[in-house]
Amino acid sequence: MPLMLHNTMSRKKEAFTPLDPARVRVYVCGPTVYDDPHIGNARPVVVFDVLFRLLRQVYGPEHVTYVRNITDVDDKINARASERGVDIRTLTEDTAKRFRDDMQALGALAPTHEPRATEHIGGMIALIQTLIERGHAYAAEDHVLFAVQSKPDYGCLSHRTRDELIAGARVEVAPYKRDPADFVLWKPSTPDLPGWDSPWGRGRPGWHLECSAMSEQFLGRDFDIHGGGLDLVFPHHENEIAQSTAAFPGTGFARVWLHNGYLVVDGEKMSKSLGNFLTVRGLRAEFPGEALRMALLGTHYRQPLDFTKAGVTRAKRQLDRLYQPLKEAASAKDTTDTPPLPFLAALEDDLNTPLAIHHLRETAQCLNKALTDKDARLIGKFKGELLAGGALMGLAQGDPQAWFHGKPFAQQDGQNPHRSPPKSQPDQPANRLPLTESTGAEGAHVEAQIAERKSARLRKDFAAADRIRKELLAQGVALEDKPDGTTDWKRAG
Ligand SMILES: [Zn+2]
Repeated sequence: MPLMLHNTMSRKKEAFTPLDPARVRVYVCGPTVYDDPHIGNARPVVVFDVLFRLLRQVYGPEHVTYVRNITDVDDKINARASERGVDIRTLTEDTAKRFRDDMQALGALAPTHEPRATEHIGGMIALIQTLIERGHAYAAEDHVLFAVQSKPDYGCLSHRTRDELIAGARVEVAPYKRDPADFVLWKPSTPDLPGWDSPWGRGRPGWHLECSAMSEQFLGRDFDIHGGGLDLVFPHHENEIAQSTAAFPGTGFARVWLHNGYLVVDGEKMSKSLGNFLTVRGLRAEFPGEALRMALLGTHYRQPLDFTKAGVTRAKRQLDRLYQPLKEAASAKDTTDTPPLPFLAALEDDLNTPLAIHHLRETAQCLNKALTDKDARLIGKFKGELLAGGALMGLAQGDPQAWFHGKPFAQQDGQNPHRSPPKSQPDQPANRLPLTESTGAEGAHVEAQIAERKSARLRKDFAAADRIRKELLAQGVALEDKPDGTTDWKRAG
């Protein structure tokens, strides 16, 4: 089955055909680094990470280029830096680092390129010069503006006319604009603000321009897929299209436009004043990153997502049901690296992640049955299918034992760390974050209690053994006695 993707431009699901299958190119708008990402910021990162994984599976990992920029020049950054009394570069580097750390905890692979806007100012200035030469932009009062009227197809993505766009958006009216819909490509900087020398004086680029310049630099003038949140359709993506196709006539910029739906929290728009503002970092203190990822993928990407903590708890239980048979099958060798076909068909149908998760759970049930039946052939098959399907979604790739012990998990390279290594390669160490001290200490405490309970049982002090079991349960640790006499444990709840 071909990969079907819903293109915002055509408003239809279309069979995806890359311009060059040997170089599939994807651009997704990245964060403006002035504050920690909230869970709404994480949604596109996780959604397009699944797309990235799927494209790598279909075309081969070395044939997919994924660019996600970092906006490190912006008025919000300037305001936040002066509010905190820190240097702008310190703020943006620190925030970008925390963003990467959060996204890694959500199991998102690093993009192929992660360009910072401030490192591509030269390309932006060149793009503005081309636009001025072609009559699509003009300089006025130290600003350079894009002349929307020079582009009759402006509004092609949001399917609205220029007048509708002006009426529907808060368009800044300024005396230097020829038309209220014209948008800023370059603006002047005061000496205290970041600025670069340009033919129009010292200044800084407008936000929309960054993505046009950086996508051209890394992906060329025509590329396959451009993604982002629904809130970016207008004006950001509309303006990107106008700039790029005006500067390079005869090119098409992105062929397919994908947009993920809005995210609300407990049915309400997230806002600091409502007290429902959830940062990824805050959520990570309460839940494993993988449960947050599962919760984000439990709704189809184009649908609005109502994010709740109860939903994350449910997502965590769903993951328990994937990890449980994997834990029991830990010593079995997986005999396939092909995901279940219905699972793959679901993902290839415009990234239907909720249906794909349903099929993963079915595979987990099949693995459970094979384990009950002690059917070695089916155990190997379903274990392999579950791990391969999970790898495409960035789920169930951790050490199952660690999952139930509540250890933090982060995965960087899309490999299955606990998968049987191929014969030709040495065993790779599991690629995950070190345990936090508290978790390590907790784990050691549990292991010590288990050892104590074991010796109590050996000396037939069953009252003491039972007391230890109850104490651990009160601390949220459930013990599991195995037929071979060993005891395993997992976090309850
Ligand atoms: Zn962008």
